[in-house]
Amino acid sequence: MSRFWSPVIQTLTPYVPGEQPQMERLVKLNTNESPYGPSPKALAAISQQNNEDLRLYPDPEGALLKKAIADLHGLDPKQVFLGNGSDEVLAHVFLGLLKQEKPVQFPDITYSFYPVYCKLFGISYEAIPLGPQFEVQVGDFKTPNGGVIFPNPNAPTGRAIPRTDIEALLRKNQDSVVVIDEAYVDYGTESCIPLLCGPNCPENLLVVHTLSKSRALAGLRVGFAVGHPSLIEGLERVKNSFNSYPLGRLAQAGAIAAIQDQAHLETTTAKVIDTRERLVSELASLGFETLPSSANFIFTRHPKHAGGKLYQALRDRGIIVRHFKSPRIEEFLRITIGTDEQSNELVAALKEILAGT
Ligand SMILES: *Cc1c(COP(=O)(O)O)cnc(C)c1O
Repeated sequence: MSRFWSPVIQTLTPYVPGEQPQMERLVKLNTNESPYGPSPKALAAISQQNNEDLRLYPDPEGALLKKAIADLHGLDPKQVFLGNGSDEVLAHVFLGLLKQEKPVQFPDITYSFYPVYCKLFGISYEAIPLGPQFEVQVGDFKTPNGGVIFPNPNAPTGRAIPRTDIEALLRKNQDSVVVIDEAYVDYGTESCIPLLCGPNCPENLLVVHTLSKSRALAGLRVGFAVGHPSLIEGLERVKNSFNSYPLGRLAQAGAIAAIQDQAHLETTTAKVIDTRERLVSELASLGFETLPSSANFIFTRHPKHAGGKLYQALRDRGIIVRHFKSPRIEEFLRITIGTDEQSNELVAALKEILAGT
């Protein structure tokens, strides 16, 4: 605390990301990174860009990357917005689209960065309780509102809802923006991007993606949003009032190559899904109750062992998972899906812990 802090920052409670410990030989299952490397084509493209051109500013528009994203999804480049990670995209979305007179609505259990942005930008919000099975119930979002935002699949629960539910929400909610954060969509959820293709693109749907999870480029910091060109234009106004160059040359080059390597995405996400299903059934045989996951992580609890205790016992064995000390979810652990080998180590450690050895 310093007397030079502005009133705005004095009352902030910043988001706390999962730790990035520097110790070696850790089984790191806490921040939903991919256990597999990025596309080798992306790495090659980054190396190729690593030259004297770095003295020059990058393309402020990221035109080639926008085109690659538009081509992949059957969209117009005018429907694409880029940011330094999807967290930056989300920040601009909160300020540029969700800061309205009416409160924005999101689930009570969701990505914990949303309320942080609300506080930063002075946006009021309503937390809408998830259903009894921790599912997003679109019928519970009430109009009028200042906008609706949730991840699909939701985080940290991993539960997804079908696209038809979001279409129903859009029919009901026509006077504010609906933002679907699809950070984990590639692990088996129906994307809403097809709704944005062609002349029937809704004016109020925005879909946010990241290259940090399924494309294994968390270290490069690239995210994007797609939607109606008028929404994108609004986001560009915020971006160009904040930072003209959110994506450097290396990031743009790597992201283009990653977006174009669909085969790498498919093989690595298939492996993660396979490991996930095996882990869920192994944990079930140890008595764990796991929510159905469509993500690269699971949300699981043991009826006889407290979440905080399990978290600490795993940590003592060099296995880092995530535990949230929040109401309704403090008995749960959020575990990122790693390689099969990491999964085996996790199960072996849990067996020991449950046996009290
Ligand atoms: C990981 C994550 C993000 C942020 O991803 P970055 O692109 O790395 O900033 C956004 N939303 C959700 C729900 C996430 O889990």
